[in-house]
Amino acid sequence: MDMNCIPVKRRLSLIIAIGHEANGIDVDQVIDGEGLTCLPGLMDCHVHLTMDGNPDPFRDMSGDSEADGSFLAVRNARKQLDAGVTSVRNLGSQYNIDIALRNAIEKGMIEGPCVIASGKPIVMTGGHAHNMAIEADGVDEVRKAARTQLKAGADLLKLMATGGIITPGVDPGATQLDEDELRCACSEASKAGKMTAAHAQGREGIKNAIRAGITTVEHGIYLDEELIGMMLESGTYLVPTLSAPFNIAENGLDGDIPQHAIEKTKIVMDDHKNSFIQAYMAGVKIAAGTDAGTPFNFHGKFPKELELMVGYGMGELDALRSATVIAAEAMSLLDKTGSVEVGKTADLLLVEGNPLENISDVRNVAYVFKEGKCVTAKREKSPYKV
Ligand SMILES: [Zn+2]
Repeated sequence: MDMNCIPVKRRLSLIIAIGHEANGIDVDQVIDGEGLTCLPGLMDCHVHLTMDGNPDPFRDMSGDSEADGSFLAVRNARKQLDAGVTSVRNLGSQYNIDIALRNAIEKGMIEGPCVIASGKPIVMTGGHAHNMAIEADGVDEVRKAARTQLKAGADLLKLMATGGIITPGVDPGATQLDEDELRCACSEASKAGKMTAAHAQGREGIKNAIRAGITTVEHGIYLDEELIGMMLESGTYLVPTLSAPFNIAENGLDGDIPQHAIEKTKIVMDDHKNSFIQAYMAGVKIAAGTDAGTPFNFHGKFPKELELMVGYGMGELDALRSATVIAAEAMSLLDKTGSVEVGKTADLLLVEGNPLENISDVRNVAYVFKEGKCVTAKREKSPYKV
């Protein structure tokens, strides 16, 4: 994908030709990418734009008004864009702020990445992340919650199949919503042509989610051969979010992270890493996601996730695919973006160096284009040759 220029029709915001095929075409502008590598805009499949990466985000969130959360979301959306992330999937925000943010970005009121928004997650009473969620127990209540979220404009449903790390008093290994509850939500989403994502860390919860027909398993800490076989058979995606435990372990008590989150992280970290490696080796579809917003997991730090994946044995090309074409598939955006192809939206990232040789080069952002518009320029020279 090393090209010198890609012409862009601003009105349509589409890529109309690539490389030498561009010669002689009458275009509105020319992006000078000499010496840079051009990638599709990156796509983060798991973020929380209303959370800031503070040591105890759920504690802080409980004091946030809708307005507080909205300002955070606007700022964090900007940080994502500046890092070359042109699409995000927001898997949980209080007050459905991410849905309103998506609409504001689509209307051009503010700049940000394309947001695929779940709004409020659906959890059992007292379940993981209950302070930003709809609590629902039993199939009928889950059906009502699912329909409520779809009515509110959610692009997908986020469901809690197990406990999690940063909610006090819940165990990552324990199941939460039952299989019939998950199946009901998946069926409601499917009827509306929407997808689903399950926070699923423990083995039984992951199994429940796959059986229920979930689109993506988030975290997938305790995978084994049987679960991997089921994921391969049903085409379930894994979004590993390696950054989430990494940042908690890195910062620990010095960073004022609650003791319970540190203890749980210590217990799960090795299994999480091993599950990722096993799933990758077996050929499970892996879509990159950071869980940005969790402790010290700041927005705009997507490259760390790719570095962790490569550090654990994933090839550079596969890591980039997980953050572009596979992520686009998992977000149901592949017909619009996720690759540099004629006819697709001009979401592009130009970096110094070559991330196929050194994945950390995705940090060297020169320009970011969203829908053909230069939204971030870190090179002094103008990118335009008019
Ligand atoms: Zn999350």
